Amino acid sequence: MSCIFCKILNKEIPSYTIYEDDLLIVFLDINPKHNGHTLIVPKNHYKDLYDIDSYTLYKIMDKAKDICNLINDRLKPNGITLVQNNGSVQDIKHYHLHIIPKYEKETPLTVEEIYNILK
Ligand code: 5GP
Ligand code: ZN
Repeated sequence: MSCIFCKILNKEIPSYTIYEDDLLIVFLDINPKHNGHTLIVPKNHYKDLYDIDSYTLYKIMDKAKDICNLINDRLKPNGITLVQNNGSVQDIKHYHLHIIPKYEKETPLTVEEIYNILK
């Protein structure tokens, strides 16, 4: 399997993982749009929104709420956008939900610095 997110969840390549259970893994985006840009990824390789089942979608959205609460608490953004790409605008063909905090004023931190704040 050449999927990079499968390699991350199988620990074949490293990631800044902030949460993990039997169904999901949550790690920091390697190329963040803003401080705290996080990805929620199911451990099964669903391609996209048309492939994933409703129960897993529900668990992803439920976890998104927890992660948004964590980000609000630790990073104090002005808002948070949730994004999920499909088709030609989806780069990695393994379903993932982006959590993208937005700030009126922002000093970009490294992914490692953000990890140390959120973990
Ligand atoms: P998409 O366009 O598929 O919705 O977004 C894919 C996201 O995955 C991008 O924001 C990109 O920065 C992120 N990404 C790509 N490769 C890696 C990786 O190896 N590790 C991590 N943590 N994020 C990745
Ligand atoms: Zn995969």
